[in-house]
Amino acid sequence: MLGKWVGRIMEVVAISLDQANTMVWAPSISGAFSLASAYRISQEGGNSSWLYSRLWLPGLSLKVSFFMLRLVGFRLPVMDRLHKLGILGPSRCFCCLYPCQESIDHIFCTGVAAKRIWGYFEEVIGGFWDSSTLRHKLVSWWLRPTRNRYLLYLFRLLPSLICWNLWKMRNSFVFDDHLRPVAQVCAAIFGDLRDIFLLKFQGLSTLGHDWPGFYGMVAGLHGVSRTLVVRWSCPDPPVVKAELKALMFGVRLAFASGYSNLHLESDSLVLVQIIQGKARCPWRLQGDLQDLLKVSGFVRKVSHCFREANKLADRLANVGADSGQTLTYHSLSDLPSLVRGDVSLDQLGVPSLRRVRA
Ligand SMILES: [Zn+2]
Repeated sequence: MLGKWVGRIMEVVAISLDQANTMVWAPSISGAFSLASAYRISQEGGNSSWLYSRLWLPGLSLKVSFFMLRLVGFRLPVMDRLHKLGILGPSRCFCCLYPCQESIDHIFCTGVAAKRIWGYFEEVIGGFWDSSTLRHKLVSWWLRPTRNRYLLYLFRLLPSLICWNLWKMRNSFVFDDHLRPVAQVCAAIFGDLRDIFLLKFQGLSTLGHDWPGFYGMVAGLHGVSRTLVVRWSCPDPPVVKAELKALMFGVRLAFASGYSNLHLESDSLVLVQIIQGKARCPWRLQGDLQDLLKVSGFVRKVSHCFREANKLADRLANVGADSGQTLTYHSLSDLPSLVRGDVSLDQLGVPSLRRVRA
């Protein structure tokens, strides 16, 4: 295994033999190791589960989320789970007239109390079908389609609150021999839901005081929103390579013309950061970068400027692109007339304005 890797590393041709090897930490932009970037990798390393990710929700108590984690993983000490661990005892559900074996699906989904409580909330919303397992029940809530962000939150929050209160109802019966009425449990669930909603959406003060009224008001809220995807995309290395080549061409031209105190300006922020040592340089550009750094003693400053802000450079770039060849001007009078006009305006301090058709 080691031999294979050594062979692969030895095949890589060194860009510059006179430069010492440097260690590069690939996950960070600068190439330097940082604890923050290592932490990000460790956080994103594992596979994520859609089912388990539903259990964590802003506003929902961590105590309830951890309870749901155990519930969905069938790790609650109900009798059928204890039997599997060899702990034997009477198994008798709390909810049915003729008690049957206590299991997670029975307590939280198919038992009489569970069915009545789920039914109380589902009847108002509509569109639910019978479920034979708890996971099926939870998923049927979490996958309900809506574009109303308040309803989306409600559909994620309510199942956890129902399960939490069913668990408290069961424990009250098992340990205190007290069976709480279903209506009281439904009222407790609605109370929790309303409190969390008001805390999460503090602008909402006129929510209904009973479940049907509350749901009607939440469903009527303006939940439709526009979504704009904003993402950073990695700059294409060939573009940076072209920018670096162009910069080197300019530097050589300046030396040939007798200039030695240079101010380099580029519209590529990535290139500027690479030269300044703030960003990691791609391997394929190392050779060109080393060539540029050799003459860094003659460079006074390296800065970034948007192309639109430097009208003169912008127009010259367009002239070059249109002609398809390399054009070199040795005096002001050689420049195209429009470019000479840009130079004059620039000298007068006139701002460069660009008109954009909407
Ligand atoms: Zn039962």
